[in-house]
Amino acid sequence: MKIEYLITLFFLLAILPVSTVAQGFDNKPANGAGASRLRLSNSDEIGAEFDSVPCANSDRLNSVKALFERMGAADSEITIEKRKKVENLVIRKTGSQSDSGKIIIGAHFDKTEKGCGAVDNWSGVVTIAHVYRALREYLLNKTIIFVAFGDEEKGLNGSREMSDGIEKNSRQEYCAMINIDSLGMGAVQVADNLSSRKLVDLSKSVAADLKIPFNHSNIAGGDADSTSFLNKGVASVTIHGLTNEWPLILHTQKDTAAKVNATAVYLGYRLVLEMLMRIDSSPCSAFR
Ligand SMILES: [Zn+2]
Repeated sequence: MKIEYLITLFFLLAILPVSTVAQGFDNKPANGAGASRLRLSNSDEIGAEFDSVPCANSDRLNSVKALFERMGAADSEITIEKRKKVENLVIRKTGSQSDSGKIIIGAHFDKTEKGCGAVDNWSGVVTIAHVYRALREYLLNKTIIFVAFGDEEKGLNGSREMSDGIEKNSRQEYCAMINIDSLGMGAVQVADNLSSRKLVDLSKSVAADLKIPFNHSNIAGGDADSTSFLNKGVASVTIHGLTNEWPLILHTQKDTAAKVNATAVYLGYRLVLEMLMRIDSSPCSAFR
């Protein structure tokens, strides 16, 4: 999460305490046909990713690469795309219908100087890596672009470089962009003001269907990588898990693994996985 000015996140609805997060959650696998090929992670596996959060920015990119390799990515599938000194780690999973469009799922891997950046945003990186593992051997229609963005905290630099690289006449190939930033403090939420309306609606309906506690929020003064793609006319959404205590945690020494609730991250993971699968099975125009 990029913070432009402080104490500016307010929620349209009250935040659910984390203790209520898991109650009533529907643990059925997503979608019908082919669901057996999904490799779903559980909350213990998600939680284990926070046993060793890389606290130094200089270790971060290598750690993201190692994480994706543990999730089954071959070295040859992982590319580091460098533009204007910003490095994004990218994995492209080609869809079965090459003309049915592309979906980007991303999270920034960089952190500010203070703390370990466990909430902001190792939580997001862990989420997209486990979504990658879930779908690695699952046949999808659309091409999925998994990306760990660099230098978000310096001004959304990685996401801007990627979105700037999309030619104007190929923008219509991009069906949606799902951004995950700062899960794990509390219930899963969508950042309404950093997101497209139809993807906000999708996140809400998926949460209801999976019985995941969920809220809308409005992040004035905060920004996130979805903005870079919204600026190019690509339908985009940011999912987070912050509470009203976030100014005391993010970008401070207190952003450590101790602040991350594994169940809350797990529920965010299930939400975005199901969102991605529903976008995949819909016409590209459905969420614009
Ligand atoms: Zn941040």
